[in-house]
Amino acid sequence: MEKVVIIGSGPAGWTAALYTARAQLAPLVLMGQQPGGLLTTTSIVENFPGFPEGVDGYELMTRMQKQAERFGAKTSFGVVESADFSQRPFTLVVDGEKVTARTVIIATGASHKHLGVPGEHQLENKGTTYCATCDGALPMFRNQPLVVVGGGDSACEEALYLTRFGSEVLLVHRRDHLRASKIMADRLLENPKVKPIWDSVVTEVLDVKQEKVTGVRLKNLKTGAESIVSCSGVFIAIGHTPNTKIFKSQITTDENDFIVPLKGTMTNVPGVFVAGDCADHVYRQAITAAGAGCAAAIDAERFLAAHHK
Ligand code: NAP
Repeated sequence: MEKVVIIGSGPAGWTAALYTARAQLAPLVLMGQQPGGLLTTTSIVENFPGFPEGVDGYELMTRMQKQAERFGAKTSFGVVESADFSQRPFTLVVDGEKVTARTVIIATGASHKHLGVPGEHQLENKGTTYCATCDGALPMFRNQPLVVVGGGDSACEEALYLTRFGSEVLLVHRRDHLRASKIMADRLLENPKVKPIWDSVVTEVLDVKQEKVTGVRLKNLKTGAESIVSCSGVFIAIGHTPNTKIFKSQITTDENDFIVPLKGTMTNVPGVFVAGDCADHVYRQAITAAGAGCAAAIDAERFLAAHHK
């Protein structure tokens, strides 16, 4: 039986692992489908304190993992298929095997949101993508017009990154101003290769018949006018949905599926704690996720001390 199982391996998961490992609880980290989490798909992280020159997202997560392992955290590539929190110890089914745990820290993060328009899904990996840093350098995007959808920090980051490869980057946003932080918005709008298309949404990704992206159909939300813009890539950066589906019937969530803790980081189930983007629709930063991971570890440690003397 494990004392602490941590589900997820982003900044929240690894920080929870570091703290519980140093408390000599030998946590088991189930790394999930995307070890290291979404941060591994970003390029340079400039706002994680301690790295004045910035740090590569993948490197940051690898360093966090090594730090947790140094103190005895155990890691597994396992993906949790189901969880039973109805009685303690809790039972998780991980790749078909049962794992029992006295406490669980849910740090499952969030996944990219999809537009849900015709062509998007059919042309995934044929020009539609959710990660510029993963796919931007592919030959199919070189010196071609590229479309980025969204108006937040992610969209700005993706669009700026893509200016290295595309002939021009068209940023399609449904409003006439960006939601992104000022520094990112300014950087983007000052870049001569970026052309914003305001008040507009993508209604279709073209062209399924040709089995590759050739353009997008746009609708201007103010005028209702439709147009087609040619491009060979569509990079969708419209936010995230929390990865909480498998806990839904047992753990309290809000209307957007974010977990709602009851007290500190503890959920409605005593002994089950939560940290990071799966419970945070406000801050969603690597550093706030890491902070929440630390808090969840301390809460789990105190819970174990109180219940298993
Ligand atoms: P976000 O801030 O939620 O922005 C999502 C954007 O997509 C918004 O502009 C939104 O439009 C638009 N959008 C949402 N659904 C849409 C739809 N169905 N169709 C068209 N547009 C849609 O998400 P994010 O940019 O991924 O950022 C998430 C968090 O991570 C933020 O806290 C951000 O600060 C942080 N982050 C930070 C950095 C950095 O500091 N370098 C980099 C990346 C992310 P509206 O504006 O109309 O709502």
